[in-house]
Amino acid sequence: MADIKCIGILTSGGDAPGMNAAIRAVTRSAIFSGFKVKGIYRGYRGIITDEIVEFKTQNVSNIIQMGGTILKTARCKEFMTPEGRQLAYDNLKRHGIDALVVIGGDGSLTGARIFANEFDFPIVGLPGTIDNDLFGTDSTIGYDTALNTIMECIDKIRDTATSHERLFFIEVMGRDAGFLALNGAIAAGAEAAIIPEISTEVDQLAELIQNGFRKSKNSSIVLVAESPVTGGAMALAERVKNEYPGYDVRVSILGHLQRGGSPTAFDRILASRMGAAAVDALMEDQRNVMIGLSNDEIVYVPFFKAIRNEKHVSRELLNTLHRLSI
Ligand code: ADP
Repeated sequence: MADIKCIGILTSGGDAPGMNAAIRAVTRSAIFSGFKVKGIYRGYRGIITDEIVEFKTQNVSNIIQMGGTILKTARCKEFMTPEGRQLAYDNLKRHGIDALVVIGGDGSLTGARIFANEFDFPIVGLPGTIDNDLFGTDSTIGYDTALNTIMECIDKIRDTATSHERLFFIEVMGRDAGFLALNGAIAAGAEAAIIPEISTEVDQLAELIQNGFRKSKNSSIVLVAESPVTGGAMALAERVKNEYPGYDVRVSILGHLQRGGSPTAFDRILASRMGAAAVDALMEDQRNVMIGLSNDEIVYVPFFKAIRNEKHVSRELLNTLHRLSI
């Protein structure tokens, strides 16, 4: 094993429920195995600005149920330059940090990959994002909680949609990935999901209307992934209003409430397993890998694969939604 004595841990990019459970798991399992642990505040920025403190087991007490991240998170332009990363490296060395666990989305893991290669520095990543858009893991930390939040919101909106016989476009997060929109639609019994992966293939709105959406029911709910590819819920609603003036159309944008809240049991367990696995991975001399979960087994996914943006939505899910919405 590389001579690792002290592990630094940080959260970076967009926050996600379950990040705290992951911080707790990394900290406790590292201390359990005899490592020193240092918490780095505000992502990569905190390495450069020196916001680093030693973590003991009690630093992570009573946080497993909390949303957000106790380490805070930030975006850091300086880390995207070689000079910034050199400063970061010098500071890690000064603090005696020999390895890092980075919890974040594809941007954060891209930064981790570049840094790890540049300085031959051991880094293990944990997929922390509600979007579920990292390849090599069935689920990312925070995705299940966000999905449940979306489902609960739609259940409430449906009461109004049904009472007023309206067509609702509900915008959910997912810039490049339709997992939240598609599975949210299935879970809430919505009529359709408009997602970035399909927009390039067909005019989803036209298809929706033609496929009997008009004749169907007295209320309808369509989930729309917030993305330049779909155009977002507002733009779609405008189109419907113009092209099909008979509809009573409303828009609801769920926004940041999707990112918050206490993590579900699934996300807490996922984060705990992944956090413990990150320490195992470092002890096994793994580096430049993200921890994933595949068929309920922990797997190591090389960064370059995880961030390649090739996680496809399942045709089976699309088909199921389609069949159940008649
Ligand atoms: P997320 O991890 O949620 O996808 P971002 O894309 O905002 O979030 O990335 C978070 C941070 O990761 C950035 O602010 C930056 O510090 C770092 N990062 C992202 N891309 C790169 C890159 N190409 N090179 C170096 N660092 C990067």
